[in-house]
Amino acid sequence: MSLVNITPKKGDGKSIKAGAGPSEGSAITVPVTKDASQQRQKRMIANHFDKLSTAKEDGKKVAYTFVPGNLTELMGAFEMLPVLPEINALQSGMRGKSGAYISEAERGGHSEDVCSYVKCDIGMLRSGNVGPTGKTLPSPDLLLLSYTGCFTFMKWFELLKAEYNCPVVMLHVPYQADGIITPEMRQYVIDQLKSDVIPQMEQITGKKLNLDKLAEQLARSRRAEDALVKVWESAKNRPSPIDGYFGGVYYIGPIFSAFRGSEDAVAYYEELLAEVNDRIKTGEGPMTPAGVMSNQKYRLVVEGPPSWTHFNEFWNMFSNEGAIAVASTYTRVGGLYDQGFRHDPQDPLGTLADYCLGCYTNRSLPSRIDLLEKYIKSYSADGFLINSVKSCNSFSAGQLMILRELEKRTGVPGAFVESDLVDPRYFGKANIENRLQSYLQMLEARRNGNIAASGSSPVVIGSAP
Ligand code: SF4
Repeated sequence: MSLVNITPKKGDGKSIKAGAGPSEGSAITVPVTKDASQQRQKRMIANHFDKLSTAKEDGKKVAYTFVPGNLTELMGAFEMLPVLPEINALQSGMRGKSGAYISEAERGGHSEDVCSYVKCDIGMLRSGNVGPTGKTLPSPDLLLLSYTGCFTFMKWFELLKAEYNCPVVMLHVPYQADGIITPEMRQYVIDQLKSDVIPQMEQITGKKLNLDKLAEQLARSRRAEDALVKVWESAKNRPSPIDGYFGGVYYIGPIFSAFRGSEDAVAYYEELLAEVNDRIKTGEGPMTPAGVMSNQKYRLVVEGPPSWTHFNEFWNMFSNEGAIAVASTYTRVGGLYDQGFRHDPQDPLGTLADYCLGCYTNRSLPSRIDLLEKYIKSYSADGFLINSVKSCNSFSAGQLMILRELEKRTGVPGAFVESDLVDPRYFGKANIENRLQSYLQMLEARRNGNIAASGSSPVVIGSAP
């Protein structure tokens, strides 16, 4: 699982053709607007990649790591610079480069069935390791493997270890099979931080961990997390001032990646929240590729990541029909703050353990169902949609069961589409669009009393699930 940390491709004062940039699909018109928060995020990202490009000459150490269960504050306390391969992969997808990178990896012997993030990353590496802003990425001084629920993470870093021959440190995070975090699980993670992860970072950077500095980072994380939760909860308004899935992936960029714990992240989330609050006051919806979306006919909850190669096309299919995502699980992959978790500066290592243990990829199917049920009810959703991605076995397995169980519990009908993360070969535009329209028509018929409110069959969209 992963997330985006780039701002939408937008013009100044007039529309632009997005097909020339992020999408491998057909050209679409992107709306015009640049919120101050978007501009800030764009500057933050450019800055980060600038720092990465000169990291070696500046004497900065670089850690490659994954989004779920990331230890950004700890890296920040050591002034290490994070690189997140999943984010590089999804950005390659949005920029129309992932197809060629995947082919490169497949030519090198990686099977079609391997997670497309991995192949995209390997293909990018073999093609010069040029990052999303066009600057070359530094090689890692450390591969920091937070192992949270996905076996592919381990194999991915085995491959990178073979390429870079740098140290790997693994933080083994016990899976929440029973939906709970026991004191033993928590202590097990804390012990590894003390015995493996921190000593390895101290050795690489030549610095001792400064716990006060770590606590300051955690306090700033908490402030950003408070603001983000208010942004999520704003979707309970009608009209919703945000799109909690397509728009939401932009909102999670800073907090799930290199910026949590920084002053920049606090400033970004406080600015974003102020913009959202302004839209609530004026009754304005969010900006979408189809324009400002205030006329919202269908409120949906979405499970699963988006297709990055056809991101705007996929979003357009929803916004053109008046469907808005009021909540999504994908935007909680890097932290379930809306369920109460906050980083705690009073307990620096314990809070890092809680964060890693609680991330969405580390949760069992029953607890994912509970969460989706909660979202459907608390955001008053008319329906829910699962985008099941071919690449991600660890996430997609069981999603049809999730769909049926949710229909049973809530009486709300679900839809199921299939695509992929960054492999453009797995996006069937016409098929998904036709079926999505049928699903929304079915919701409309239910609303008008023409279909029974419960007991309807799930609408399965896309190729055979
Ligand atoms: S299999 Fe899924 S969770 Fe694992 S790395 Fe790939 S996309 Fe992420």
